[in-house]
Amino acid sequence: VMADDQLHIFFFPLMAHGHIIPTLDMAKLFVSHGAKATIITTPLNLPIFVQSSEKIKHLGLEIYVKAIRFPAVEAGLPEGCERMDQLTSDDLVPKFFKATTMLQQQLELLLHECQPNALVADMFFPWATESAAKFDIPRLVFHGMGFFALCALENLRHYKPQKNVCSDTEPFVVPNLPHKVKLTRMKLAPYDREETEMTKFIEQVKESELTSFGVIVNSFYELEPDYADYYRKVLGKRAWHVGPFLLCNRKNEEKIHKSDDEHHECLQWLDTKKQNSVIYVCFGSMSNFTNSQIEEIALGLEASEQEFIWVIRKGEIPDGFEERTKEKGLIIRGWAPQTLILDHEAIGAFLTHCGWNSTLEGVSAGVPMVTWPMFAEQFLNEQLITKVLKIGVAVGAEEWSIVVDNVKSEAITKAVKCVMVGEESMEMRRRAKEVTKMANKAVEEGGSSYSDLNALFQELRTINLHK
Ligand code: UDP
Repeated sequence: VMADDQLHIFFFPLMAHGHIIPTLDMAKLFVSHGAKATIITTPLNLPIFVQSSEKIKHLGLEIYVKAIRFPAVEAGLPEGCERMDQLTSDDLVPKFFKATTMLQQQLELLLHECQPNALVADMFFPWATESAAKFDIPRLVFHGMGFFALCALENLRHYKPQKNVCSDTEPFVVPNLPHKVKLTRMKLAPYDREETEMTKFIEQVKESELTSFGVIVNSFYELEPDYADYYRKVLGKRAWHVGPFLLCNRKNEEKIHKSDDEHHECLQWLDTKKQNSVIYVCFGSMSNFTNSQIEEIALGLEASEQEFIWVIRKGEIPDGFEERTKEKGLIIRGWAPQTLILDHEAIGAFLTHCGWNSTLEGVSAGVPMVTWPMFAEQFLNEQLITKVLKIGVAVGAEEWSIVVDNVKSEAITKAVKCVMVGEESMEMRRRAKEVTKMANKAVEEGGSSYSDLNALFQELRTINLHK
């Protein structure tokens, strides 16, 4: 790429791990394709980006990072609260979003100062479309979801099938999708059941999308071709699928010196285990369980008689559990090197909350999954995994909840056994490996994601030239 037509892209992710991690990967991807990338974040989140950008410097790749102040206290949040996993109760969520609306001026100052060629801003910053327009640059939306969920959410909003059922547990079909996608009101966000502050906010999000330049999707065509087509052709969206971001960067990462993560004790523990013999249990960065739910998980895992790694962020593990299962299981308190674990050949399956990043990481590692959705679009991702791709089984979670207490140990045991042993598990693993192959192909030169990224860059350069 010639220096004078180098694109400079601004990235502005929502302050949550599930948005920060893919944005970092997306920025690396753009940089390795010749763009200059600047990520905007807040002081608390700054080190995550800086550390990651330090690691790729010696490859001749650089990500620039700039911080803006987060008005936590002004919005009614505790001081120092700058990331969504710090929110301890539901009623803080609207306050968090209120704080993000107060960032517009600071972002615009940076746009003025740096004059980037495009702004990739999270869906949760609807005002970013207006900001980009002020500087005459395209705004791209990043949702952090796949096509399947994007299509289903769009049709839920449009047709409102949830209004035609008598109870919260009566199933209804999301109209007009390529597959029969069944939901209940219990699985929808509280704000999709009744009008709240959040409903209004989501409407703004949709409005800003309509006037934006288009959407960047962390997915690949072959994973959900019917939905990639539906999103563009039926719903009429402009979208570029350039993922899985994490795989796009794998080649670069291989050249990075071994990081602390790679010496994590769990990987050495996995080295001593047989192929496909361990189930990895992790529920993302924001999950919360009651202690009784943690007990059910412990009992369920133990009764499955499978080896396991269980990542637990907070809460109490029942007395004696660790001692009793020390031959079979490893408990990680806090943050686990998830992608390295999933890629280890000893991992045979993944018990996941179906966050989109975790879903793609499971897909990229070729492991069957037990699905236990909790909130956000996770119930939709579950349907993609179990009904469309057929690479997982549902544990049977029926209800959207931020603090989870809804699955019994017997259901956990049954689902874990189903993905770890027997005919069905072999079939699912075989299908999962097929999907992984397609994912790797998509990001190679000439693959669907690779080509879509080139197409996006081409469009952005053309706009730039005509200015
Ligand atoms: N993650 C991790 N270690 C952990 C927990 C989470 O590396 O102990 C990463 C995981 O690999 C994924 C992200 O955090 O990239 C979580 O994103 P996801 O969309 O799956 O769920 P969310 O946290 O947004 O609910």
